[in-house]
Amino acid sequence: MRLSQIKQVAVIGAGIMGHGFAQVFAQKGYPVFLYDIDKEILKKASLRIAANLDTFIKHGIIRQKEKKAALEKIATTTDLREAVGKADFVLEAIPEIMDLKKEAFTKLDQLAPPHAILASNTSGLSITEIGAVTRRPEKTIITHGANPPHIIPVVEIVCGEKTSDKTAELTYRLMLKLGKKPVRLLKEVPGFLFNRLQFALYREAMHCLEEGVATAEDIDLVVKAGYGFRLSVLGPLETSDFGGLDTFCRICQNLFPLLDASKEPPLSLKKLVEEGKLGVKTGEGLYPYPPAIARRKIRERDRRLLQQLKLFQARK
Ligand code: NAD
Repeated sequence: MRLSQIKQVAVIGAGIMGHGFAQVFAQKGYPVFLYDIDKEILKKASLRIAANLDTFIKHGIIRQKEKKAALEKIATTTDLREAVGKADFVLEAIPEIMDLKKEAFTKLDQLAPPHAILASNTSGLSITEIGAVTRRPEKTIITHGANPPHIIPVVEIVCGEKTSDKTAELTYRLMLKLGKKPVRLLKEVPGFLFNRLQFALYREAMHCLEEGVATAEDIDLVVKAGYGFRLSVLGPLETSDFGGLDTFCRICQNLFPLLDASKEPPLSLKKLVEEGKLGVKTGEGLYPYPPAIARRKIRERDRRLLQQLKLFQARK
């Protein structure tokens, strides 16, 4: 299959990631079937996509007619056969549970045309294992985007043991066509790159919070106004070259023995989860989020990310 032969797309799972990816495909003119087992979630997904596009209009990323064109490209369905029967590219975004993914890929393999690529947005499960339930492991691959997927540019592309180079190349070029910044990993490792790096920082941030080094606000501020501020311009490896490798080596020597190296989730995090304090979605997490504040914070997050996206695209 050539890139120009990818004409119909299916997104499986219409939650946080699925609805955003459906939007990304539709904005580039691909007809998309957005499938979920839950009709209510599909209704909510359509409203979310319309709201996302309104935010794009408000910030000058797209015009009204592009919103209309994108919405016309998306059809929602609870019929899997209808969703994938004519799909050339299928993107799965259902919960991160191996048995569920295997079950879904078994069905996708049965219902999608033999030439279709089956991609998973898994955050860290093995595509070698998921792909093994299909008769086309060479056409299975990971395209791991970050939340919110309609804004964050990077998509990690991870191949399984049997993924073919053709599938990898085609998927890479498709992501480029979607306006994404694909990064192809050289090998399959748990957590890929994004989550290995993100969770190394998260472990230390939670450790500093538990140890009373600073407040949650100040820990986040040190990243937003300092380390993270620089990160979108210089990655951690470039940063060490700019800072001097001798200095970085000395700091590694002094600091590595003192950093948190625990193999379990932080106790305070486990406690919050047990109490049902799951963050924005339940109204409280490490910070309080009464509904009005949650809505304002999500709007504010998107506004700032879109400003950053404009700068990122201008740099290209
Ligand atoms: P979510 O819970 O928001 O959405 C999952 C959707 O899948 C739900 O709407 C649910 O109804 C639907 N679903 C459940 N079983 C299904 C099935 N058998 N067939 C079709 N739909 C089904 O989850 P999410 O956050 O969008 O995560 C989806 C995937 O993306 C996971 O693998 C997750 O690890 C990955 N991911 C999530 C994030 C994130 O920040 N949320 C970031 C990157 C990757």
